[in-house]
Amino acid sequence: MHWVLVGASTVASEYVIHAVRAQVGCDVTWLVSGSSEHAIRYSSEYEIPRFTSSIEEALSDDSVSCVYISSTNEKHFVQAMAAIAAGKHVLCEKPLALTMGEARQMVAAANQANLVFGTNHHLRCSGSHRVIREMIATGVIGRVLSVRVHHAVHLPTALQAWRINDASAGGGVIADITVHNADVVRFLLDEDPVEVVALSEMSGMGVGVEDSCMSVWRMPSGAMVMSHESFTHPFAGTGLEIHGTQGSIVATGVMTQQPVGSISLRNSDGEKLIPFSSHSLYVQGVADFVSAARGKGSPAATGSDGLMSLAVSLAVRESAQNGQSVSVNYE
Ligand code: NDP
Repeated sequence: MHWVLVGASTVASEYVIHAVRAQVGCDVTWLVSGSSEHAIRYSSEYEIPRFTSSIEEALSDDSVSCVYISSTNEKHFVQAMAAIAAGKHVLCEKPLALTMGEARQMVAAANQANLVFGTNHHLRCSGSHRVIREMIATGVIGRVLSVRVHHAVHLPTALQAWRINDASAGGGVIADITVHNADVVRFLLDEDPVEVVALSEMSGMGVGVEDSCMSVWRMPSGAMVMSHESFTHPFAGTGLEIHGTQGSIVATGVMTQQPVGSISLRNSDGEKLIPFSSHSLYVQGVADFVSAARGKGSPAATGSDGLMSLAVSLAVRESAQNGQSVSVNYE
């Protein structure tokens, strides 16, 4: 399976190129980038045989079957629609698009064309999140009462570009991290937030876009979720707590790109550490996508999952802007 990489991005160079090459029979054949100077350097450093600034040129290569889109967020829609029109399976970065209307069109077009469309929500591919989901589903902690997600980090200097100052490119911590938290909560609880209330801030890094956000979500089951995202917290660490009537799961350091962290279960028997697989999140995500493209199963996070997480993040942003609680609109 030959792949086109759309966007000469950091996430591709640090994780996804390797994840594609780790699959049997897969390679990265094309790089599509808006900057020829950057493309020359990038394709040489990561040994991508062909590069172009014309997505049409890469998509017209009949040997290509899969496209990975990791450009800035405002470009995902046009690029995904072009890839789908060319008959390619698409693995798209989150957030799928800037609006629900665009994201819906992307997912519908792929469905209509009978193509696989995945959203690269990596966290649900981790051993830690998969074990926690299983524990919740099998009733280990009883009925879930609440979830607390803290995903407040210090954005590395190299990434402090469009994310912290460009709303038109889809910058801001809500588009970047709240959307991941939404996917994690949906994945773990197997239900979708119905209502959110939020506040956001520019706490030292964001210019014209928020760099910190806290929100509270109501779930259909009655469980409450507290979600905290930031770009400005060097020492906060990340974590996830799920509290139920029969126990609590406390996971530290698991809201990350690496297969690290720890999980403990607290209940009337005391506290014990829960083991989990330390496989690469991105290799697993691409493996699930490739398997779906070969006709078996579905991507770890589908296009619908990407739509749902986008809907939650847009509701959080609307609430932070207008100071009201907002019903999540999945339509
Ligand atoms: P980057 O800021 O590294 O790259 C985004 C775009 O900026 C590139 O596609 C490229 O444009 C351009 N660019 C980057 N570096 C240069 C340079 N030196 N010179 C010229 N242009 C440059 O983005 P990220 O990797 O941080 O994010 C990309 C996408 O992936 C986003 O949608 C983000 O939300 C998502 N993401 C997902 C993660 C996950 O784990 N699922 C993790 C991190 C990001 P061009 O397209 O023209 O090549």
